[in-house]
Amino acid sequence: MSTKPTAQHCHLTGLLHILEYPRVSRGNMPGEQGERKMKTVAYFCAEFGINESLPFYAGGLGILAGDHVKAANDLGLPLVGVSLLYRQGYFQQHISPDGNQVALCPKYNPEDLPLEPVLNDLGEPVLVEVALANRVITVMAWCARVGTVPVYFLDADIKENQPADRRLTDHLYPGEPAVRLKQEILLGIGGVRLLRKLGFEPDAWHLNEGHVAFLILERIREYSAQGIPFHAALEAVRASTVFTTHTPVSAGHDSYCFALLDHYLGDYFWQLGASREEILALGQVGSQFNLTRLAYRVSFKVNGVSKLHADVTRQLFHHWTPDLPWQEIAVESVTNGIHTQTWLAPEMKELYDRTLLPSWEAQISSAATWEPVRAISDGEFWETHQRVKACLLERLSLPGHLAQVLVVGFARRFATYKRATLLLHDLERLDRLVNHPAHPVCLIFAGKAHPSDGLGQEFLRRVIEVSRMDRFRERIFFVENYNMSNSKPLVQGVDLWLNTPIKPMEACGTSGQKAAVNGVINCSVLDGWWDEGYNGANGWAIPSAVGSSQAEQDLMERESLYSLLENEIAPLYYRHGETALPHEWIEKMKESICSLAPVFNTNRMVVEYWEKLYRPAAARGLQFTENNCVLARCVADYKQFIRKNWHQVQFEAVECSGEQVQSSIRLGPVWHKDVLVELVGQNNLGGIWRERLEHSGLNPAGVHIYRGKLPGDLEKTPQADIRIRIVPISPNFVSEFEMELATWSRL
Ligand SMILES: *Cc1c(COP(=O)(O)O)cnc(C)c1O
Repeated sequence: MSTKPTAQHCHLTGLLHILEYPRVSRGNMPGEQGERKMKTVAYFCAEFGINESLPFYAGGLGILAGDHVKAANDLGLPLVGVSLLYRQGYFQQHISPDGNQVALCPKYNPEDLPLEPVLNDLGEPVLVEVALANRVITVMAWCARVGTVPVYFLDADIKENQPADRRLTDHLYPGEPAVRLKQEILLGIGGVRLLRKLGFEPDAWHLNEGHVAFLILERIREYSAQGIPFHAALEAVRASTVFTTHTPVSAGHDSYCFALLDHYLGDYFWQLGASREEILALGQVGSQFNLTRLAYRVSFKVNGVSKLHADVTRQLFHHWTPDLPWQEIAVESVTNGIHTQTWLAPEMKELYDRTLLPSWEAQISSAATWEPVRAISDGEFWETHQRVKACLLERLSLPGHLAQVLVVGFARRFATYKRATLLLHDLERLDRLVNHPAHPVCLIFAGKAHPSDGLGQEFLRRVIEVSRMDRFRERIFFVENYNMSNSKPLVQGVDLWLNTPIKPMEACGTSGQKAAVNGVINCSVLDGWWDEGYNGANGWAIPSAVGSSQAEQDLMERESLYSLLENEIAPLYYRHGETALPHEWIEKMKESICSLAPVFNTNRMVVEYWEKLYRPAAARGLQFTENNCVLARCVADYKQFIRKNWHQVQFEAVECSGEQVQSSIRLGPVWHKDVLVELVGQNNLGGIWRERLEHSGLNPAGVHIYRGKLPGDLEKTPQADIRIRIVPISPNFVSEFEMELATWSRL
C-alpha cells in the first residue's frame, strides 16, 4: 500500500483535536450538583434507533441518529444525545387476514430495556420540570450508553404527573398537533434543563431535524436569566447552534398556529426577555409558527443531508427570503452515512477481516482500505454472499429455493413519495418479469405506513394484495413489521436493493448504503445519496422522467425500470460462465463496495460534522459569549441599528455606459463600509455571478457613488436580468445574507 497521505490521514488531523477534547467519563453519572464541567456537543433528535431492543425510532432519521452516536463513540467525540422515551415506542405492524395494517402498541417498561435511570447522589431520579399551559410536567430520564456516549430519553410517565400527562410521551410522532407540540416543548426545553442538571456545558448544539427547535428558546431564557438582553442572547445562542434539515417538503415541517403556542407557552415567553411578537416572529411563516424556520433563523450553520438535498432545501427556504436568490441561501451539505459495523453481515465482516488490512475499521473512509476487495476470488466472494442470503431466507421464513433466484429488496417507510407500488401497476408485465423461465425475479417488500397516512396504507394494502395472488405467491413477499431486526438481514442478504422515490423527495436515504457495504447492488432513481454515489459501474440508475403530471412521470419511470430489470439486471445476474459463477455481477458487487463503502459511512460523516459545523460552532460560541457576551451584544446592537435604518438605504440613480456601471446610493445613517454593493446575475448554468462595485466618493448632496464593470463574458445573461444589490455586511456575520436584508435595483 502506498504511504502517501490519503483522505484518511487528513481526517486524522481532525481526530487529534477530537481526542484532545475532555472525554465524558465512562459509567460514572455526574452528580446533580454538576461539579465536573464537561465540554460536549449536545445532539437532540426526536428519535433514536440505536439497536433492536430500543424501539424509539420510526425510520431513517432515528437510525441515522443511532449511527451518529455510534460513530461519535468510535471517534472519541464527546457527544451527548437527548430524546424522548416513548412508552409505546413507534407501533408494531401486524397484517390482518384481509390484508390491512394493524398498528399494535405494546407498552414497554424501561426497566426491561438496556437503559439506566438517571439518578442523583441520593439514588433518586433526577427530575426536570417544564411548565405547559397552566401546569407543570415533570420528567425523569433514562440513559442508554453507547460506549462513552450517553443518550438521554426523557420520560413523562412518572407518578409526579397527573394521569393524562403521563400519557404525553407514549407515542412517537402523534398525529394530534397539540400532543406533538407538547412533546416538542418537553424535549427542547426539558432536554436543556436535564443537561444542565447533569452538569453538561455543551459548546455546540446540534438540532437534528426541526422537532427539537424549542431548545433554542430555552437557551435564550438561560441567557436572559443571567441578565443578557434578548437580542444579544439570540446571537449568543445562534453562534453555537447548528441545524440539520431532513425534509424536502414544507408539509413535512412541524408548524403550529399562534393560539396553540400562546396556550402552552404564554407564561414562558416573558421569561425570554422579549415580547410575544418578537418570539413568535422567530418562527413565523404566514400565520403559523414553523419549527424549521425557527431552527434555520437561529442557527449558525444549516445543512441538508446530501448535495442534492442542500440545493432543494435552498429552493424550499427561498420563499422565506424572496429578496435573496435561492442559490445564495446558506445551506451546506453533509451527506448521510451508515455505521458500517452495525449493518455489516457477520459473514462479510469475517471476509473483510481476512482480506483487508487489520486496521481496516479504523481506516474505513480511505478508498485504499477497500481496494483489496477486488482481489478476493469470485468463488469465495460469491459463496460468502450466498451464506448471507441463506441466512436472510431462514430468518424471515422465506422459501429456501429463492437462494437460486435474483432477490430484490424494497424496504422502507411506506411514505407515498417512495412509490412502493411502482412496479405493481402493470401486472402482466410484472408476471412476465418475476416468472421468467430463464431469469426469474423475486421481490421482497417491507415497511410501515404511518397510522394517519391513509394513502400510504393504501399502497401497503396493494402490495399485500398482489403478493397474495396465485401467480405471485412464490415470487412476491411482504415481510411484516419492518424494524432494525429484519432490516439487517434484508439489506445484507438480498441481491439487489431497489429505491424508487419521486425525485427530489428522498433527502438522502441510507438503506441503500447499508446494502452496498454488504455487496448488495443498488438500483435507484438518481435521488438523495445515489445521485452522488452512482458512478456508472457500481449499480443502476433508473432514468428520471419529468412528466407533465405525476401519473405520467410514474408511467415513464416504471417502464424504464421494467426494461432495466428485464433486459439488463436479470440477464446479468444469470449470466454464468463455465465456472457457474456470475462473474460480471460479482464485479459490480465489488465495484459497489469499493466505490461506496469508503464514502457513505458515519465515520466520514461525523468527521465532516466535526470539521464543518461542530468545531466552528464551538469556537464561535465561545467568541460570542466571552466577557459577558460582549460580542453577542455588539452584533445584536449593530443588527438592530441596521434594521431600524435600512429603509433609508435607497438607489438614487443607476447609469450604464458600455461595460461601465455607476450607481448613486443614499445610505442615511448607515456607514458605507457596512454595505456591499454588487451586480448580480444568473449564469447559464443556473448559478449566480456577483461583481462588486467600489465606493468612489460621496457627493455634496450626501449621495454615495459606486462604480464597477460588467463582467466580460456576459453573452448568456441578458442585460435586463442583471440587477444591483445592496446588502449589510459585518466581519462578524457568517455571510452577507445573515440579516436576510437586500435592496435591489435594475440596471
Ligand atoms: C435504514 C433504515 C431505514 C431508512 O431507510 P431509507 O431507505 O433510507 O428510507 C428505515 N427503517 C429502518 C428499520 C432502517 O434500518
